[in-house]
Amino acid sequence: MNKLSAVVIGAGIGGITAAAHLARRGLHVTVLEKNSRPGGRCDYFTRDGHTFDTGPTLLVMPLVYEQEFARLGCSLRDRLDLRRIDPTYHLIFDDGSALRLTSDLKEMCDQLEAIEPGSFEGLLRYLDEGHRHYHLAMERLVDRDFRSASQFFNLRNLPLLFRLKPLIHHYDHMSAYFTSPRLKAAFTFQDVYMGLSPFKAPATFSMMPYTELAHGVWYPQGGMYSVVEALTEIALKAGVAFEFDAEVDRIEIAGERVRGVRLTDGRQFDADLVVANADLPYVYDQLLPDDGTGERMSHKRFSCSTISFFWAVDKSYPALPAHTLFLADDFRENFDSIETQLTLPDHPSLYVHAPSRLDASRAPEGQDSIVAVVPVGHLGEGDEQDWRTLRDRARCAVFDRLSTIGINDLETHLKFEVNFTPPSWRQRYNLLKGATHGLSHTLTQLGYFRPSNRHTRYHNLYFAGASTRPGTGVPTALISGRLAAERVADDFALTTI
Ligand SMILES: Cc1cc2nc3c(=O)[nH]c(=O)nc-3n(C[C@H](O)[C@H](O)[C@H](O)COP(=O)(O)OP(=O)(O)OC[C@H]3O[C@@H](n4cnc5c(N)ncnc54)[C@H](O)[C@@H]3O)c2cc1C
Repeated sequence: MNKLSAVVIGAGIGGITAAAHLARRGLHVTVLEKNSRPGGRCDYFTRDGHTFDTGPTLLVMPLVYEQEFARLGCSLRDRLDLRRIDPTYHLIFDDGSALRLTSDLKEMCDQLEAIEPGSFEGLLRYLDEGHRHYHLAMERLVDRDFRSASQFFNLRNLPLLFRLKPLIHHYDHMSAYFTSPRLKAAFTFQDVYMGLSPFKAPATFSMMPYTELAHGVWYPQGGMYSVVEALTEIALKAGVAFEFDAEVDRIEIAGERVRGVRLTDGRQFDADLVVANADLPYVYDQLLPDDGTGERMSHKRFSCSTISFFWAVDKSYPALPAHTLFLADDFRENFDSIETQLTLPDHPSLYVHAPSRLDASRAPEGQDSIVAVVPVGHLGEGDEQDWRTLRDRARCAVFDRLSTIGINDLETHLKFEVNFTPPSWRQRYNLLKGATHGLSHTLTQLGYFRPSNRHTRYHNLYFAGASTRPGTGVPTALISGRLAAERVADDFALTTI
């Protein structure tokens, strides 16, 4: 009997994972990737002895990685050399004062009480809530598919409306735990990982600071790209074929089914089913026939974007921690600029990463590789903004912030700079509007409301990745790839390995 064949569009985390699961179930799987290597947004580059992760720099939710690698028949710890980062982040406020987020509760108590007397008790209550949100949300919303409305809208799920606090905005909810605006910011900035403002995010997301402190923030030796390498190796071993520099031009339709894809170079790949891992709004906009869905999707809420800098410097800055966040006192105005005006805030909050603190191989001896990420709005309709000018302003903002911690000479030690702006993100990975995290995670775009892992009309077209269920981030992309493969397995009555 001929093997069933599958084409996967895109070798992002979700695409490789889906491909590996399908190959392990006996399918003949080909992954077509427009770029010259796998990984998608989980990307890197090396130049003159400096190596930079250009996308993810934080391995969070390690329990999900463990679970998903196990489901691929592998042990995470055998594949990756993981080191826990503690303190996870150094937070720096506008007046130069600092807060180190650590799982050492005594140290947290001393620091918090110095900022706001009584706040440590608030932290413990907040973490308790985060613990409940994490386990409930993982079980009932994240680590699962919703194949029918009744699986979501049922009496069993009704208590989630109260227990997960989805109807309350995360930042507003912080008043139950802290008075200090700085502490409220310190335990909500993680929403930006979902590409979302804490002023719009559901309070459900207290699960993120909880998992970071309880389960840890980790760093795989070799950088985040080693996650891609491990997954690709698993997929190759399962028999997946990869084609790079292979850009899909359109998904071919025959009646109510898809029958394969056509590449921009004219090649045709026929298949019994297609899994699209390229970001979902782009797939509707560019790869599928125009039935109005692409237009409707473009009106959904998109996540923010970033201006990212990758700096090679001929000097080492050992005092610069691995993960530093500069949190602006005008936290609310920051998100207003990003989400409403779709631009760069006047005084942006930003993130600086110094990977050599974790892995000496990231820069030549005595030198540093530094990543700075400044969140900005995504591209608007017919975007008129001058991103070069905004990029230059963002660069000055980072240098200004570094000077508050005594680093004044970075610019004079620059060997080279590479930078990405929203148009770069759009062009490199086909992210509509340059939204780095795809569709955002507002209440109406979560759980059942997030686009499904299978097309509603073409039942042999599946979706895996950030803008489909369950959502954005590397761990969720791992889950998404599996959910898409499980859907295929059920539709085609495949056996499980
Ligand atoms: C700046 C930044 C920082 C981040 N930080 C973190 C972090 O610290 N921790 C974390 O967990 N997550 C982080 N994320 C999110 C995480 O990187 C993504 O959610 C995840 O990698 C998305 O995976 P995906 O499966 O959706 O695929 P994608 O990465 O979107 O990959 C899709 C692939 O499809 C390819 N493609 C697109 N169009 C076509 C076509 N027509 N033909 C062929 N191929 C095509 C693309 O080139 C790409 O390789 C970050 C993201 C960014 C951008």
